[in-house]
Amino acid sequence: MLLDEGVDFNAFYDRRALNFFHGTAGGRTVFSGESPDVVCHEEGHAVLDALRPELFDAGTIEAAAFHESFGDMSALLAALQLPSMRAAIIADTQGDLTRSSRLSRLAEQLGWGIRQTRPSAVDPDCLRNAVNSFFYTNPEALPSRAPAASLSSEPHSFSRVFTAAFLEALAGGFRLSSANPGEADLQAVSLDFGRLLVAGILAAPIVPEYMSQVAAAIVAADAEAEGATQGKYGDVLKSAFVRHGILSQQSAVGIASFRATGVAVAPRTAGMAAGPGRELPHVALSAAEYGLGDRPLLVRAPSQPRRFAVAAAAFGVGSVTPSNSEHAARAFVEDLMERGHIDIGGAGQPGVRIVHPHTFKTHRLVSSPEGLMLTRILFDCGFRAIS
Ligand SMILES: [Zn+2]
Repeated sequence: MLLDEGVDFNAFYDRRALNFFHGTAGGRTVFSGESPDVVCHEEGHAVLDALRPELFDAGTIEAAAFHESFGDMSALLAALQLPSMRAAIIADTQGDLTRSSRLSRLAEQLGWGIRQTRPSAVDPDCLRNAVNSFFYTNPEALPSRAPAASLSSEPHSFSRVFTAAFLEALAGGFRLSSANPGEADLQAVSLDFGRLLVAGILAAPIVPEYMSQVAAAIVAADAEAEGATQGKYGDVLKSAFVRHGILSQQSAVGIASFRATGVAVAPRTAGMAAGPGRELPHVALSAAEYGLGDRPLLVRAPSQPRRFAVAAAAFGVGSVTPSNSEHAARAFVEDLMERGHIDIGGAGQPGVRIVHPHTFKTHRLVSSPEGLMLTRILFDCGFRAIS
């Protein structure tokens, strides 16, 4: 844990440490490492990296966005381990955790700091609010940047869809606890949801529509849980994932019938055949298109075997058809390039290639005999305004 690495409204995880910074705005200095939300978010990146290391380099927008969501969900669940916080949240929301509260408002202080110079980059009252009404759409069809009020394919922005569904499901689970649930019930529900989340992550294959697979795996984990909690949260989970479009209605209905018939769920061993722990295979894209020379651009494709026959909801009727893994990898690369997040080093010809001299780099190109490998340096935590 590196508590103050210099001047920036930032924090990041780079597989060596959790890195924190400080920044000054409006006459006040904000240290990112002072925020429990930010610290738990960074720690969340490290925990997810231990659970599914293949996600670190996965070339897909949804996997990167899920990493951010997991950071925020970690902050939510960690906050709920404090008795005083549980009591305060229940009092503030009158027991309705779907209301905006100190629980849902992540990183209020850093959000304030960033708002002083980039008012549209963050929510009006925090960095990101887990109480929101964003509805899933394939992120490949979204712009690579947008103000905080809109959804974009930028991972922190898109992460809000999953985080919101998770908090709504947790709020529903809390209401199920008893007629008048209290802070001990809230802790019990938070522990159940932590376990379900981890079980879902371990079972879900890394594919372009990763969020739908994780959602289905969480619902399945609840249905398969041992003991008194078996199936307890099925309704609130499906409801929340459907309300945010992460599961289409047909998919949510289908999860129950998979269990009844045993079809449409590949065996766990098939889902895990490419991982966890094993690197995803490279797909070769054209580097010339991006002015990076004639050698192929190698990106790790989200191509594990699908385990659950589920998909997200289309805006009109039915489900979204998922992208193939090569298309997902291409969309991921173009997004990173548009935002200037790839350190291209010496690749490509000066005057032809696009260099973004003043942007924060999360990835770099590593030369190998086969081509240029897109490699992640770190998970930037979005506290740094793009310069
Ligand atoms: Zn992050």
